[in-house]
Amino acid sequence: MLKFDHVTKVYKGGKKAVADLNLEFNPGEFIVFIGPSGCGKTTTMKMINRLIEPSSGNIYINGKNIMEKDPVQLRREIGYVIQQIGLFPHMTIQENISLIPKLLKWPEEKRRTRAKELLKLVNMTDDYLDRYPHELSGGQQQRIGVLRALAADQPLILMDEPFGALDPITRDSLQDEFKKLQQTLGKTIVFVTHDMDEALKLADRIVIMKDGQLVQVGTPDEILREPANDFVEEFIGKERLLQARPNIQTVEQVMNANPITITEDKSLSEAIQIMKEKRVDSLLVVDGNKVLKGYIDVEIIDQNRKKMVQVADVLETEFFAVEKETLVRDTIRKILIMGMKYVPVVDRRKRLVGIVTRASLVDIVYDSIWGDVQEEIETKNVG
Ligand code: ADP
Ligand code: MG
Repeated sequence: MLKFDHVTKVYKGGKKAVADLNLEFNPGEFIVFIGPSGCGKTTTMKMINRLIEPSSGNIYINGKNIMEKDPVQLRREIGYVIQQIGLFPHMTIQENISLIPKLLKWPEEKRRTRAKELLKLVNMTDDYLDRYPHELSGGQQQRIGVLRALAADQPLILMDEPFGALDPITRDSLQDEFKKLQQTLGKTIVFVTHDMDEALKLADRIVIMKDGQLVQVGTPDEILREPANDFVEEFIGKERLLQARPNIQTVEQVMNANPITITEDKSLSEAIQIMKEKRVDSLLVVDGNKVLKGYIDVEIIDQNRKKMVQVADVLETEFFAVEKETLVRDTIRKILIMGMKYVPVVDRRKRLVGIVTRASLVDIVYDSIWGDVQEEIETKNVG
């Protein structure tokens, strides 16, 4: 239906907004482009209806190179919804909806019938036909903006952050409404957003862009389960990743939240006392704000026991710690391979919040290995 073949856009002045884009979409797909501001979403979209021309590469719609089409004709064949609703204030709702049908020279009767039909799709009555945009709420105006793109029944619709300016509640209901509408009408939609919730909710496939480049293409499920890299993980957000992959765990979920500590102002004999009492061979050293400073162990104490020193004077300040949001998956290897007995866990402000011990990790490793085996057995039984 829609194909990008090595499409690049370099603006005058040398800004490369889109770099060697290769993509192919099926008819009826709901495609959502997402990425941070300036990553090239709008540029990509506007190249589809030739509001912007590629510097190199080709775009095909139904196998036909769009550069071989008349741009005005092309634009009439594609629905387009922009962020600022873009209704003409001096035109009635019907006139606004019927803009393209009028250009296509549909008779007045047919245009009015079509406008009524469309209003029904979004549960608005015929009464609105002869009103003006300012008489409608923001949500209603945006519905009209969407209807206008559907009016001429084009098979391909481009939508550039169409719900971006709406309040969250209106946006939410319009998203639901529009997703249903698309499923019944079977249109191919190219939708741009910077809101991951919106993308996950609407898309059949999501295209993630960064700096004009394609980072990942996949169904919402694929992207949640297998983010291509840290950028995508960050973009999706830890919360959603945890929801999507309930079996993944953060260090915080598996740590021991009561590590044995000593403050830096204590003496070495006090340190020995605590170690004896708690039956441990090292202590984490923190300051008055619980910020982790290092550790001391029996060896350090043994080397310094003749001197009159404090913990602060002898502690080892070179240490490895993990942040509590770190995924266990990413830490396990380090801890097991480096042969550490435990790793301190800190928050963003370097305050000690717990420790992960080698022993606690063994259970997790065991679980995850066993989990895979079990899954395999179940699949085999089914097949
Ligand atoms: P997005 O829609 O993802 O925010 P755009 O496609 O609007 O991104 O812009 C991509 C990059 O190209 C940005 O760095 C932007 O500043 C730049 N850009 C956009 N339009 C022009 C233009 N007409 N001339 C020069 N640079 C532009
Ligand atoms: Mg944009």
